[in-house]
Amino acid sequence: MVQEQTPVLIVGGSLVGLTSALLLGDQGVPSLVVERHPGTAIHARAGHFQLGTTEMLRQVGLERTVREASAKTYHPIGGIIAVESLAGKQLATFVKELNEGVEGFSPTVRVFIDQDVLEPILRERAVALGATVRNRVEATALEQDDDGATVTLHDLESDEEHTVRARYVIAADGNRSPMRTRLGIGMEGHGILSNSITIYFRADCTPLLEDRHESVIYVHNPELRGFFRLDRAGKAGFLVINSVGADVTTDDAVNVGDGITEERAAAMLQTAIGTPDIAAEVLQIVHWRAEANCATRMRDGRVFLAGDAAHVVPPNGGYGGNMGILDARNLAWKLAAVIRGQAGTGLLDTYEAERRPLSELTVEQAYTRYATRVVPERGTDDAEPFIDDLTMEIGLVMNSNAVIGGANDGARYMPAAETRGRPGTRAPHVALGPDRSTLDLFGRSFVLLRAAGDDWAPPGVEAHVIDSDGFLEAYGITRDGATLIRPDGIVGWRSTGAFAHDELTAALNSILALDVTPPVA
Ligand SMILES: Cc1cc2nc3c(=O)[nH]c(=O)nc-3n(C[C@H](O)[C@H](O)[C@H](O)COP(=O)(O)OP(=O)(O)OC[C@H]3O[C@@H](n4cnc5c(N)ncnc54)[C@H](O)[C@@H]3O)c2cc1C
Repeated sequence: MVQEQTPVLIVGGSLVGLTSALLLGDQGVPSLVVERHPGTAIHARAGHFQLGTTEMLRQVGLERTVREASAKTYHPIGGIIAVESLAGKQLATFVKELNEGVEGFSPTVRVFIDQDVLEPILRERAVALGATVRNRVEATALEQDDDGATVTLHDLESDEEHTVRARYVIAADGNRSPMRTRLGIGMEGHGILSNSITIYFRADCTPLLEDRHESVIYVHNPELRGFFRLDRAGKAGFLVINSVGADVTTDDAVNVGDGITEERAAAMLQTAIGTPDIAAEVLQIVHWRAEANCATRMRDGRVFLAGDAAHVVPPNGGYGGNMGILDARNLAWKLAAVIRGQAGTGLLDTYEAERRPLSELTVEQAYTRYATRVVPERGTDDAEPFIDDLTMEIGLVMNSNAVIGGANDGARYMPAAETRGRPGTRAPHVALGPDRSTLDLFGRSFVLLRAAGDDWAPPGVEAHVIDSDGFLEAYGITRDGATLIRPDGIVGWRSTGAFAHDELTAALNSILALDVTPPVA
């Protein structure tokens, strides 16, 4: 017997599941999140959060909370370098300062915050916005029909089962995604790159860091390859080890986790620190696989894959969690619009059409960073050319039926400074005052921006007349033109010059997949 109903069931209550619940809640749609673990993440894992994530956090009012929490653990300017060991020679600088080049492009900044610190913040806001989060509950079976999905939930505390009926399901159940397996969706890409480990430790490394405040410190020496992430005090953190030994081309070299003992891990940690003078205490060793793969599909009927369930990347570049958060941002407003009856179900087809090509691109960029920064000797011939971080964050281009008037040139990215409000790209930041941005207008509904003229807008669309310097140039329109921004901050349509109200209404209906018969002339 069906005991419970929810518009959206979210399987997995970690980074991407909680973000999905938060964004649905922000759209006024309640959801049920089930998570088999007793709480949110217990390990740091994701730490590097890019502009796509921090702009979303700003739009839901969490920017300050997250930046304050970040500052407790991390230095705001830390860069990314490579060393022989913490005590040894510096070998390379990959990123000089975390936010170098960001100013002018965004009202916010990239931050480092540990996943186990961020998740409770997301969860609290999701619950405040109407989500229900149940821990120690596992989704064990799924059936779909024309009207919805029926999912069996197993309460791991009471050992009882019941079913929940949902209109839609988000599978945010991680890289081994049982939901994906159940749906018979495969993965494709570069496969498994290494059986890596993360060693969480305490050690007072301050004498070795002097005035360095790096966010990520790669370690390259004949004994191991990996990276450190240290807290700003330099007294604790983790060391990821991706390969051991000087010859990284063998399978043994990348199967780091096989048979690892605590003594061996402690010895490798000491090697990475580079001096026996610093005493290190291993707190925990976590095994994980570095992979670079995409799911062959991101949707099956009423089930949408998001986050690591849909794509898995090595941590280099910090793309994993951020990519999942972009999935959630793309999907939440579309599900909400369909559930509220404001959009046709065709809008949901645009999730995979928009996110899959960009997921593939991002998986390749993470692979490029892994191949070139961690194990270049294993060969980089199959790695795509490097695309800079800012382009990957705010220069992505989408093509789908929810983008009207895009160039349709197949581009998946362009330099951040060149997007200029092109439909399918992130709407640019233009300062509207001190700490006030065009981006602050987006998030809940469609927004129409123009520089002059009346404030007419179709029902459900918020209109703003912007007279700030640089607005027309940044958005690629003239004084007679207008631009329509979707709730996820993506330009959905624009008219560079004068336009008729009907033209805008037709574009909006088309984005929303509403089959509206044109008025008889
Ligand atoms: C060392 C390391 C460093 C990283 N650094 C970064 C970084 O700097 N930046 C970044 O963006 N990313 C980083 N990542 C990647 C990031 O951690 C992941 O991409 C992110 O956790 C994915 O979130 P998710 O919610 O999709 O999946 P997960 O975090 O894996 O969560 C999935 C959840 O689903 C639950 N679940 C599974 N099946 C069921 C079921 N049947 N019923 C109920 N619950 C279920 C699981 O218990 C789990 O909690 C890093 C990863 C590692 C390993």
